[in-house]
Amino acid sequence: MSLPAVESEQPSASQLKRTFPVVNPATLEKIADVPVVEPDEVKIAVAKARDAFESWRGLPFQERAKILLALRNRVLDQEDAIIDTIVAETGKTRSEALSAEILYVCAAIDYYTKNAEEFLRDRVHRISLVLLKTKRVRTSHLPRGVVGIIAPWNFPLLMTLGESIPALMAGNAVVVKPSEYTPLSALLGQRLAEQSGLPKNLFQVVPGFGETGEALIDYADQIAFTGSVATGKKVMARAANTLKPVTLELGGKDPMIVLRDANLERAANGAVWGALSNSGQICMSVERVYVEEPVAEAFIARVVEKVKDLRQGIDTHFDVDVGSMTMSRQLAVVEDHVADAIAKGARILVGGKRNPDLPGLFFEPTVLVDVDHSMKIMTEETFGPVIPIMRAKDAPEAMRLANDSRYGLNSSIWTRDKDKARSLARRMESGGVCINDCLVNYLATEVPFGGVKESGIGFRHGEGGIQKYCFVQTVLEDRLGLRREINWYPYSRKFSKLLSRALKVLYHSRWTRKFRP
Ligand code: NAD
Repeated sequence: MSLPAVESEQPSASQLKRTFPVVNPATLEKIADVPVVEPDEVKIAVAKARDAFESWRGLPFQERAKILLALRNRVLDQEDAIIDTIVAETGKTRSEALSAEILYVCAAIDYYTKNAEEFLRDRVHRISLVLLKTKRVRTSHLPRGVVGIIAPWNFPLLMTLGESIPALMAGNAVVVKPSEYTPLSALLGQRLAEQSGLPKNLFQVVPGFGETGEALIDYADQIAFTGSVATGKKVMARAANTLKPVTLELGGKDPMIVLRDANLERAANGAVWGALSNSGQICMSVERVYVEEPVAEAFIARVVEKVKDLRQGIDTHFDVDVGSMTMSRQLAVVEDHVADAIAKGARILVGGKRNPDLPGLFFEPTVLVDVDHSMKIMTEETFGPVIPIMRAKDAPEAMRLANDSRYGLNSSIWTRDKDKARSLARRMESGGVCINDCLVNYLATEVPFGGVKESGIGFRHGEGGIQKYCFVQTVLEDRLGLRREINWYPYSRKFSKLLSRALKVLYHSRWTRKFRP
C-alpha cells in the first residue's frame, strides 16, 4: 500500500511547526503527521491562489478542460494508490472508495468539461421597457476569484477534488481546507492536479483545524462548506463579517417510507445498502425507516436476514461490505443514540455494539425496532451503521413522521404505485426524493442536489452548480450615441405628461386588455 508523502510547503519554521496525526481508523495505526497550515499561512496561500487565478481566468474553456481531462486520466492511472489512501484514512471499503469517490471525480470532470462553456455563455437580452429599446444588454457569468472549499471527512477525495471541478472550470482558483481526520486524499489530489498541468498554486490544500477554516472564510472570495449543521451555522456567522457568499451542504436524517404494495425484496435490499454503505456515514444515508403496518413484519425479517449476511472488516481485496467508522467521536454518537433508544424501549434485532473481533472503530451493522420520535435515533443525525425501523398506520402517517424533522436533505418512497409515489414526493420536505431507490441521486451530476430546512442553503450539480461559483455581471451599452436621452436633465412638464399617458397605455389593465393578447 503506498501512501503519499506529506511535506510542508512552508519550510522556514519547519521545526516549530504544529503537526497533527492521521490515524487509520480500521487498524488504529498512525499513518502520517501532517503540518497544520496556520491562519497567517492561509492568507499567503489565498494570495498565491489569486495570482494563479489571474492567468487561469483568461484561458479559453477548452484549455481548462484539456488540463482537467489530463487530471482525470491521471486519477484513473493512479486508481490503486488513491484507493489505498482513501481506505487508509477513512476505514471504508475499497469498493466504496472506487464506486463513490473515484467515479464521482471522473463524472464531475466529464460533465463540467463538456458543459461549462454552454452554462456560462454570455447572453444578450431583449429589454421590454420602451425607454431602453436603444440599449444592448448582455449578462456574463464571471469567476469570483479564490473559492474556499471546507470539507468533511466522509468522502475525502469527492468533497475536496471533486467539489473543486466546477469552481475550476468556471475559471476560479481553489483553496481546500480538508477535514483534520482525512487530509491525505486531498493532498494526493493536489499532487495529481499539479502533475496534470494545473498551474502552480491554482489548487491548494491547507490542512488544519477550525481556525484554518475560519481564516479561509476571511480571505477567500467565496465559501462552499460541507459539514455538520453546528459548524455550518458558525461558518455562516463568520462569513457575515465580510458578507462572503456561502453555500452550506449540511447533515440529514433521511426518511425511507415503505408502503404496503412495495416490492419488499428490493426495499429491504435498498434499506440495507442505503443505511449501511460507508458505515452509514453519508449525509444522505437512510437514517430512519417507516414501514406500513401490514408489511412491517415481512419487511423487518428480510432486512435482518440481509444485515446478518454482511461481511465487516478491513478491506484489502474488494471483498468486505461494511468498513470501520472514521472517527471515534462519531462512533460515540452512534453508541449514545443506540443506548438512548434502548433506554426508551427500543429493541435490537441484530448488532447494537462495537465489533469485538476487530481492532478499530467498527460498529456492528444494527437493526432497531420499537423506535419512536422521543428517541435521538429517530430525530438527530446518527451517521453510523444503524437502521431504525418504525411501523406506520398508513401512508399519511408515514409522511407526517417523515416531515417531522429539522432536516430535509434526501428521502425515499418505496411502492409499486408510481403515481402515488410522485404525489407523495411533492409533499416531502426534502431537497431530493428517490422512488424505489436511494443514495444514487448524488451521482446524477446533471441535476441539483441540496437540502432544505437545516440541511443547508444552496446546492451542487447541474447548471446552477457551476454558476454558483460566478458572479453575474450585467453590461448595458447605448447603441445610438444621441446628445442626450429624453429622461435626462433638464426635466420638463411636457415629458412627464407624455410619460404619464404612456404608462397608462402600457400598464393600466383598461388599455392592456384592449391591446395586448
Ligand atoms: P464538521 O462540521 O465537524 O467539519 C467540517 C469541516 O469544517 C472540517 O474541515 C472542519 O475542520 C471544519 N471546521 C470546523 N470548525 C470550523 C469553523 N469554526 N470554521 C470553519 N471551518 C470549520 O463536519 P464533519 O464531521 O467533518 O462531517 C460530517 C457532517 O458533514 C455530517 O453532518 C454530514 O451529514 C455532513 N455532510 C453533508 C454533505 C452534503 O452534501 N449535504 C455531504 C457530506 C457530509
